[in-house]
Amino acid sequence: MSYELAGVVDSRHALAHPLLAAVDVGGTKIAGGLADRDGGLLHQVQLPTPARGSAREVMAVVGQVLDLLARHPLWASVRAVGIGSAGPVDIQAGTVSPVNIPAWRGFPLRSEVAAHPAVDGLPVALGGDAVAMTAAEHWRGAARDHRNALCLVVSTGVGAGLIIDGSLHTGPSGNAGHLGHISVDLDGRPCPCGSRGCLEGLASGTAITRTALEGGWQPAGHDTSAGAVAAAARAGHPAARHAYDRAAQALAAGIAATATLVEIDTAVIGGGVAKAGNVLFDPLRRHLATYAALPFAAHLTVTPALLGTDAGLIGAAALALPLLASPTVVAGR
Ligand SMILES: [Zn+2]
Repeated sequence: MSYELAGVVDSRHALAHPLLAAVDVGGTKIAGGLADRDGGLLHQVQLPTPARGSAREVMAVVGQVLDLLARHPLWASVRAVGIGSAGPVDIQAGTVSPVNIPAWRGFPLRSEVAAHPAVDGLPVALGGDAVAMTAAEHWRGAARDHRNALCLVVSTGVGAGLIIDGSLHTGPSGNAGHLGHISVDLDGRPCPCGSRGCLEGLASGTAITRTALEGGWQPAGHDTSAGAVAAAARAGHPAARHAYDRAAQALAAGIAATATLVEIDTAVIGGGVAKAGNVLFDPLRRHLATYAALPFAAHLTVTPALLGTDAGLIGAAALALPLLASPTVVAGR
C-alpha cells in the first residue's frame, strides 16, 4: 500500500509503520526527508543554506525545513529524527562547527532541532555528513553486503566513515574514519587543519584542479572544476591525467592504510570527484595493488557509491534508526 494514498494516518498505522525524519545540513542546501525503516525516501524538501548568515538565520532555515516536513500527513508517523551535518561535529555535545557555515561554531544543533515545536519530544540523533553517507551506503548501497567497509566522499574536501563488524563506527566525538586528514606525504604542504601532507590536500576536487593547473593544463573556458579536469584527462591531456593519477595514489595509500589497520574489505567512493569514473578508478585500483600488499589486505575492492545525492538523507535516517529500536533509550540527549 502506498503511504501517499493512505491519506489520513491514524495512530494504529503510525505504530505499525513508524517513520524517520531526516535532515541533511550542507553548505549549499538544507534538505529534509521522511523515510521508512527500510531506508526508502517517501518525501523530500530542500531550501538553500544562508551559509554567510548569522547562526540564528541558518537555524531558521532548518526550522523551515522541519515545518515543511511536518505539513505532510505522514509526519504523524515519525518516531525519531536523524541529522547529518557538514563537520566537524561533536556527537557527545550535540554540536556542529561546519567549515562552510562560519556562524556555526560549537552550535547546539541537536538540542535546537529537539526543541523545534514540530519535533517536540521525539528522540534526535546527530552525525557528520560523511559518517551519514557511510551509514546510507551500508544500509542501502554499495557497502550493503560488507561487514567491514570504508566509505569516502571525495568532493571539495575528503570525508569518510567506517563500518566495522557490521556496525557504524563513529568514535566518541563522531569523527572516526576522517581519512581526509591523515598524512600521506610526510613533508607535504601544510594543511589548514594544522598537519601537513594530508590526503585531502592531494585528492580533493580542489587539489586535482590545482595539480592539473600546476602541470600546465589550461581550461578551454572558465570551468576549472575537477569535472573539467576529468574531461581533459579522458581526452588524453597529460597534466590532467597526472592530476587524477596523483589523487588516486593518495587515496590508494589512505585506503590501504585503513585496510591494514582495521581489515576493511571494500572501499566505497562517492562525491563529485567519483563521477570521473575510470579516470579515477583505473589508477586507484592500480596504485592499490602496490600499497595494499599484505595478504589480508590484498583482496580489498574499490567501488563507486550507489546512492548519489540521496545518500545524505538516507544516511541521516540511518543515524536515527537505532532510536526506533529502543525508544526509551535516547542516545546522547
Ligand atoms: Zn589536514
